[in-house]
Amino acid sequence: MQCSKCSRKAVTYIRYNGKYLCKQHFMEFVERRIKKEIRKQGLPKGTIAVALSGGKDSSIAAYMLNEILKEHRERKLVAITIDEGIKGYRDKTIEIAKKFCEEHEIEHHIFSFKDFIGFTMDEISKKRGNIAECTYCGVFRRYVLNKVARKMNVKAIVLGHNLDDVAQTILMNFIRNDLRRLARMAPHRHIQPGLIPRLLPLIEIPEKETTLYALLKGFEIYEGACPYSVRAMRGEYRNILFMLEEKHPGTRHAILNSYRGIEDCLAKKFPPAKLQPCKICGEPSSQPVCMACQLREKLKVSP
Ligand code: SF4
Ligand SMILES: [Zn+2]
Ligand SMILES: [Zn+2]
Repeated sequence: MQCSKCSRKAVTYIRYNGKYLCKQHFMEFVERRIKKEIRKQGLPKGTIAVALSGGKDSSIAAYMLNEILKEHRERKLVAITIDEGIKGYRDKTIEIAKKFCEEHEIEHHIFSFKDFIGFTMDEISKKRGNIAECTYCGVFRRYVLNKVARKMNVKAIVLGHNLDDVAQTILMNFIRNDLRRLARMAPHRHIQPGLIPRLLPLIEIPEKETTLYALLKGFEIYEGACPYSVRAMRGEYRNILFMLEEKHPGTRHAILNSYRGIEDCLAKKFPPAKLQPCKICGEPSSQPVCMACQLREKLKVSP
């Protein structure tokens, strides 16, 4: 098929807008929306950190930020990788992240769960009780990332979440009736003392497009999946959304736009919780003991 914008051969068909796009027009289509999102969400001056897992999405976020910040002397880009300690998975993506940063001359810092939490995810998996690995992993990753970013005087953390990830999270929070969590979703518009705001420049880009973009750019893509993702509830929401998008192209965008339409009401109904220093670790928390310390204490007493 021919590109809807020029005479070149199309590399993809975008179902939700009915357009065929060649390589150049597809890449421009992706980059334009990422740049627009960055402008909309706002980049503070100072150090910006990309949370780089070595996966395709965070690599795209790092690549785009690096390109944009080349023209901004008052902003510096660093990449932070969290090593959760998942043998056969994270060690592979960390190697990709290292190579990526070398190639693109991005300052790279790696921090591990073992150093900050005391356990690797592989150790946690054996002690987890009836709590799924992803619950520990998500809480600890946010905790370590925020703590190290604050120490590095980072002004914003950039995450590689794509449209599919965000639509899944919105749906999940609705179905679980977790409106507080829905109100606290990134990108953050209110700066809370001690919490580094998060930006999501890929929020409008569907997963299929981030995969194609990474392939066309020649980024190394690791095909494997985390061994613990089988227990993640997110998989069910991925399947539901896939089915809906197949039948009704544009569903994921509609979910995101519906959320954006009620964001202000949610923020009014659930204003940010007053934070206090955690009694154990001193990190900002909405409860006397932060979630990370609560989970860590559970692990310490678990056989
Ligand atoms: S799938 Fe779960 S355990 Fe694996 S890296 Fe992601 S959040 Fe962590
Ligand atoms: Zn074209
Ligand atoms: Zn704590």
